[in-house]
Amino acid sequence: MQLSQVFGRLIGVRPHQMDPGGGGATRVPHPVDAVVVGGGIAGMSTAVVLAERGVEVTVLEAAPTLGGRLGAWPDTLADGTRQVDEHGFHAFFRQYYNWRNILRRIDPTLRFLRPVPGYPVLSAEWPTEEFGRLPPAPPANLLTLLARSPSLRLRDLRTMDRDAALPLLTYHPERTYAEFDHRTADELLTSLRLPDRARAMLFEVFSHSFFNHEARMSAAEMIAQFHFYLLGNPEGLAFDCPDEDYATAIWQPLSRHVERHGGHVHTGVAATALEREGSGWRVRTADGSYPARHVVLAVDPPALADLVAASPALAEAAPGLAAAMPAYGRPGPPYAVARHWCDGDVAADRAIFNGVSRQATLDSVTLYHRLEEEPRRWSAHTGGSVIELHAYACDPDVPADELAARMWAELGALWPETHRLRVRERRARVEAKAPAFTPGSHPARPGVRTDAAGLYLAGDGIRTDFPSALMERSAATGILAANHILRAEGGAAEPILSVRPRGLLARP
Ligand SMILES: Cc1cc2nc3c(=O)[nH]c(=O)nc-3n(C[C@H](O)[C@H](O)[C@H](O)COP(=O)(O)OP(=O)(O)OC[C@H]3O[C@@H](n4cnc5c(N)ncnc54)[C@H](O)[C@@H]3O)c2cc1C
Repeated sequence: MQLSQVFGRLIGVRPHQMDPGGGGATRVPHPVDAVVVGGGIAGMSTAVVLAERGVEVTVLEAAPTLGGRLGAWPDTLADGTRQVDEHGFHAFFRQYYNWRNILRRIDPTLRFLRPVPGYPVLSAEWPTEEFGRLPPAPPANLLTLLARSPSLRLRDLRTMDRDAALPLLTYHPERTYAEFDHRTADELLTSLRLPDRARAMLFEVFSHSFFNHEARMSAAEMIAQFHFYLLGNPEGLAFDCPDEDYATAIWQPLSRHVERHGGHVHTGVAATALEREGSGWRVRTADGSYPARHVVLAVDPPALADLVAASPALAEAAPGLAAAMPAYGRPGPPYAVARHWCDGDVAADRAIFNGVSRQATLDSVTLYHRLEEEPRRWSAHTGGSVIELHAYACDPDVPADELAARMWAELGALWPETHRLRVRERRARVEAKAPAFTPGSHPARPGVRTDAAGLYLAGDGIRTDFPSALMERSAATGILAANHILRAEGGAAEPILSVRPRGLLARP
């Protein structure tokens, strides 16, 4: 344990148990069935926990492969090489306690997650800022960042509005939302009176990672995420990544785990509507239907709104859920992912993962041929590189190829050697399925429990009473949904962990 973590522990920066779990039988004492709609992180987390407790669980996933926004699928390049394409680079942060506990089912030591050294932020205007090599725990990480960062000098701290910065240190699950949810992240950042460079290099990169523009993101959500990623955990900003594609490393073994415990996982089966049946439910699909006592809807926000709209029974059984859908179902801005297979490589000292500041489109660059086994092999064989570019909050209605071309051109301004690379092949996608965290959206954000008995929600847009985000929120809400079912049926619940639930300077 590092010194910063020892001190962090003394001030409560450690994993906190939000639910101790237990309280029931290791297997439910009578037959219980459940249908989970959606086979992404949220749905599969629910399925893992339910299947282990003897619930007869069936996962229905609309896509041909599992994983949703962490999905991976087979692909063949023009030269005949088999590759696995993916939904895009993901950072597995170390404070993702609940997601990691699910992943421990398939690899108890999590050896398949390899540390990604460094976390540089690139800019065409300013020198690179390095985030990865900070002491892990607060306040040492914050103080080191302030002391080391070329973007923020001591005199900047004097001109900064320190009162405006206080909310970043006082995150509270109710007060923060009551006071800041109606304001935008942009207003909050402006009120700090930071120099433009510090704002761009330290804060904007951070807010883009949540698939929302600062101008349309709740300031409260930004404060919550600042706490979750920087100030509330003893693990630091460093992260890990699988050394294989997500299908091989995660989805195939997780699916086998569920099936070994008696669960069923069906891909290519979309739920089309939900009906009430006695005290339970019937989930309709194009080819049939699945009755179940409990249903967990673990789909992305637009899909949830579509499913609720297609299910008239829910207007009566879950009027609160139905009322929340028009706003909740509107996703955040589109995001784009473009993977390039190139002749030639970038400079040897380029980092595996790089955030990008203040380019019009490009938000991150990942060197897959230095990250995952299959692209690594392709690179060793061809001398080429596999470069993935992301844009997290794009303009609407721009085709994927156009966004990919813009990102590639912007990369040239940061890494001039990419002008010399020949792109052999490119896979580009754009979609909009990420939850929006618009100002004022918190009070109506649905939670895991709905107003209908036996119907639950899970996903990265669903509210939690403790800090969480992205993959970790999906896993945490998936486990919470499973726990509700287990408690109702006499099964032992799964423990739930959180980073420090409140800010370092939050009043009790
Ligand atoms: C490019 C990109 C990069 C990202 N990087 C990171 C990162 O670095 N770190 C991080 O923590 N998070 C990251 N995220 C966010 C992360 O991917 C999501 O938070 C998480 O995967 C969401 O999981 P989920 O299960 O809640 O939803 P989803 O993954 O959207 O899963 C929902 C599933 O439901 C299925 N479905 C929808 N409708 C139906 C239906 N009617 N019937 C059956 N199935 C249906 C969908 O096909 C999908 O598989 C990134 C996301 C993207 C897009």
